[in-house]
Amino acid sequence: LPVLAVVGRPNVGKSTLVNRIIGRREAVVEDRPGVTRDRVTYEAEWAGRRFKVVDTGGWEQDVLGIDAAVAAQAEYAIEAADAVVFVVDAKVGATDTDEAVVKLLRRAGKPVVLCANKVDGPSGEADAAALWNLGLGEPFPVSSLHGRGTGDLLDAVLEALPEAPAQSFGGGPAGPRRVALIGRPNVGKSSLLNKVAGEDRVVVDATAGTTRDPVDELVELAGRTWKFVDTAGIRRRVHLQEGADYYASLRTAAALEKAEIAVVLIDASETISVQDTRIISMAVDAGRALVIAYNKWDTLDEERRYYLEREIEQDLVQVRWAPRVNLSARTGRHLEKLVPAIDTALAGWETRVPTGRLNAFLGELVASHPHPVRGGKQPRILFGTQAGVRPPRFVLFASGFLEAGYRRFIERRLREEFGFEGTPIHLSVRVRE
Ligand code: GDP
Repeated sequence: LPVLAVVGRPNVGKSTLVNRIIGRREAVVEDRPGVTRDRVTYEAEWAGRRFKVVDTGGWEQDVLGIDAAVAAQAEYAIEAADAVVFVVDAKVGATDTDEAVVKLLRRAGKPVVLCANKVDGPSGEADAAALWNLGLGEPFPVSSLHGRGTGDLLDAVLEALPEAPAQSFGGGPAGPRRVALIGRPNVGKSSLLNKVAGEDRVVVDATAGTTRDPVDELVELAGRTWKFVDTAGIRRRVHLQEGADYYASLRTAAALEKAEIAVVLIDASETISVQDTRIISMAVDAGRALVIAYNKWDTLDEERRYYLEREIEQDLVQVRWAPRVNLSARTGRHLEKLVPAIDTALAGWETRVPTGRLNAFLGELVASHPHPVRGGKQPRILFGTQAGVRPPRFVLFASGFLEAGYRRFIERRLREEFGFEGTPIHLSVRVRE
């Protein structure tokens, strides 16, 4: 794992910051008099990436004296770390010791993220800005104590750290987008794939053999290349017998595993079924971007269209954020709307809200719509941060348990404020004592 070292003078708040980063409260510095702690390494995770954090706080009481101890931290960071968070007390400003450390770090050429700590309120922002003078780039205003700003800081840390290998998405973000075209049998998946891909398709991994082999195909759409994953089961009509549901859902799960986005196809000429909603739930639970396409639109009369809308309202409310396309694989109606819908959903899936903006939004929300009082107490959201994307994941820190209705309300408002079209959102709440 890549290594991050946190360095800085005594009392600038290194250990508090480390505790923030590793997300544990019990890891607060143990004051064991007489024992000089060695460096302490923790494992941390942010936005789905893991790394090691070295807390050099224990070197503060070093017999070397403060300056020598701080220099030793810097030297360790230079030698062993892949990136460094340099913590400066923004209230105090840069001291001579800080300046000396900057020189050491700069000479070493390791990436440095500058943490302007103890920015507990808006008045601290100016103190933080003053640290541009250190020549280490943007100072990240942080309150380690309250957790404010640590999200943006960690985002910068991830940028500075070398990419950890073997992410769950093979192929990396640069390759073609991976699309899972799913839906129950006979909704028209094969027809749609043939229509959009025509003869231009390229089979990527044809493992000859049974229909259970996954086949990915490269398809040109709207001038770009897309990878439709696991298309074997779409093209070769497997005649479904007993256990077919089970295999169909295995196949759907496998396709979702490999995909970034799910295009769920629904036969609009028939009543929306439990199987349809189950497939949509699988896509949402897998955390994929989602587009819902209503096929066979060419066959719909007015009455059916009326009932379809009511079924959608009733059965698909939980995914009303998903872009919708009404198309016909047979006539080609609205096929050109598929790619824009996919793009919208992927954009929502990858949206990152800066921590500052998120907390401004949460602050207003809490003020205008406080949580109802329960048992004489009123839980408050203290701050929040977006812990990841693809799909967006939020962590809210609150002073008490937030009830489900209030969490749904927050999710709804997040969507109104920041978009998130076509993507599930994960919201987790941590209660701080
Ligand atoms: P799959 O099992 O989801 O791959 O479904 P198929 O592509 O094999 O289609 C099932 C049936 O629906 C076939 O008879 C298709 O001709 C028909 N079909 C597919 N798309 C459309 C459409 O847009 N309109 C109409 N009228 N029929 C369609």
